[in-house]
Amino acid sequence: MTDWSQLSHAYGSAEDIPALLDRIASDPAPELWNDLWSALCHQGSVYPASFAALPWLADVAGGSDGEQAVSALTLAGAILAGSGQPHGAGDVRVQHAVEIGTLLSLANEHLRAATDRTEYVYLLEAVLSFEGVLGWSDDLAWGLTNEEYEVSCSGCEADLFIVLGERGLFSSSGDYALTEEDVDTRPLRPANPADLDGIGRRLHGIALADGRQEVADMLTYVFGDATCPDCEADFSVAAQVSARWSAMGQADTPWGRRP
Ligand SMILES: [Zn+2]
Repeated sequence: MTDWSQLSHAYGSAEDIPALLDRIASDPAPELWNDLWSALCHQGSVYPASFAALPWLADVAGGSDGEQAVSALTLAGAILAGSGQPHGAGDVRVQHAVEIGTLLSLANEHLRAATDRTEYVYLLEAVLSFEGVLGWSDDLAWGLTNEEYEVSCSGCEADLFIVLGERGLFSSSGDYALTEEDVDTRPLRPANPADLDGIGRRLHGIALADGRQEVADMLTYVFGDATCPDCEADFSVAAQVSARWSAMGQADTPWGRRP
């Protein structure tokens, strides 16, 4: 049995967590899930109690209620995306290897049945998290659902937006969303799918196999090239997205994979 009173979360002692889990089990209201997110994965930060919740999340993910299963999978994915943080809970990927294996196979099942693009990319991100691909497991879904990444230019270090979606496919050094004036932009250059390698090739292949052409197309831009409107330097979008994690100390390899 987990002694929750010995564990902590974002607001202190985790002794309140069992009651919250019971309430969600009997009345899965979105506000209660929000309370659980706030306590266990506060703006991406994780705590000893976060990992202690993985067995419960794996149970819910294996239940018959699809909506609850997706909620449990995305929270468990976000928690494990933080497994490299200094959370003080030990080697959580080893301690929870069984639950992580269960969560991975359930996430793959629900991925195929996702109802829309947002749910699909969050489940795809959860799959990466359960596999231990840190970095993209923090950033993939946010970028694809917001149709935007923020990166630094590899040449002049200017802060740039990489815009992918209805607003166009371009890099911009100004805040294109907040101004009526023309901001300086440069078109993105998508990767040829045949030239993709590594995580880009894999994600593109999964999206195509799942019939998610729109996601696959966006990924060719995430793993393609951009030009800085300020200094005209050309750079790889994915390399600059992952450079940000290194700068934040979240990853120690280009793709954030830890052994
Ligand atoms: Zn530049």
